[in-house]
Amino acid sequence: MPELPIYLDHHATTPCDPRVVDIMLPFFSQNFGNAASLTHEHGRRAANAVEDARIAIARFFGVQPNEIYFTAGATESNNIALNLLAPGDHLITTAVEHKSVLAPAQRMEKRGVELTILTPNREGFIDAAALREAMRPNTKLVSIEAANGEIGTIQPIQEFAAICRERGVLYHSDITQAAGKIPQTLANADLASFSGHKLYGPKGIGGLYIRRGVRAEPLVVGGGQERKIRSGTVNVPGVVGMAEAFRIRKEEMINEGKRLTALRNDLWDRVTAEIAGAFVNGPRELRLPGNLNVSFDRIEADSLIVAMRRFSLSSGSACSSGERGPSPVLTAIGVPEAAALGSIRFGLGKSTTAEQLAMLVDDLKRIVAKLREISAA
Ligand code: PMP
Repeated sequence: MPELPIYLDHHATTPCDPRVVDIMLPFFSQNFGNAASLTHEHGRRAANAVEDARIAIARFFGVQPNEIYFTAGATESNNIALNLLAPGDHLITTAVEHKSVLAPAQRMEKRGVELTILTPNREGFIDAAALREAMRPNTKLVSIEAANGEIGTIQPIQEFAAICRERGVLYHSDITQAAGKIPQTLANADLASFSGHKLYGPKGIGGLYIRRGVRAEPLVVGGGQERKIRSGTVNVPGVVGMAEAFRIRKEEMINEGKRLTALRNDLWDRVTAEIAGAFVNGPRELRLPGNLNVSFDRIEADSLIVAMRRFSLSSGSACSSGERGPSPVLTAIGVPEAAALGSIRFGLGKSTTAEQLAMLVDDLKRIVAKLREISAA
């Protein structure tokens, strides 16, 4: 097989940590029991592993184990969270949310839920005052993400949660891009969605935090596994792997965050200093450590990505790829269409080194100049 390019798309997904794979493997073949089959040792072993995982993840967030529910990923968690709305309720969310929040929000609107979509400022921040103003007597739920997967903006979710608490409104946060990347507690949040594969865990497994006493509505009904919030046989290897990923991130997140912030800031400085017409989207501070989003004047991101053969890059959310047009997040923060269409998201991660980024800058300089030459000809 040919050598793979250098991976710089860690917001789309991350490789499984080998320690995560090791801990999962016995749960495929040896400890394969159904976690709901409590009449025998096979099942009990699986159930115990699932409950240990729940404890580890709860500990990571500083919440109670029975407030964590396992799902098939953050898309499902977000859908369950929004499913607590009923016709006549008011939902407040934002224009920078992932599609797995915006699509169910729009579906809810068709079913009679009132919907307000807050717009961010130029750096992607949502204004707490705007949230206060948007509140109505029938506001039931506010859903604002913890961090953005395209431009890295870290929102003040504690402040949003406090405002909601004051008004007796439920607060949900999609913490998928932040969980395991930045220290975060769920204090004051009522619901929060996360996913294994963004933090060096497996794909197809995620979770939803639901504060004790909050009434959520399941999306998928059936056998009632996961205390009726999510039916379906629990993905035991996935759960075990995701918990191990959280355990590892608890130890490594802070140092890794510092290392990536330094690498990212250096990349930022070099790209903007050495390439004319290169502009960074999103904030310098309060930004996910591994994130950089750059617009290149007079460049089509698609052509640049194809020409940058030595790297795996993307222009934004993998979930919207295949769709034409500028990124809705960049449009929401006011990036003009042409600049948005010339934007690349660099997602640094555990495997990223200074040498790789030096190569990246070299290739960008050369290829951006060449593409501009071709388009000017
Ligand atoms: N929310 C955010 C912010 C994301 O970045 C993603 C993944 N791109 C999701 C939700 C969906 O997660 P999953 O892949 O686990 O369904």
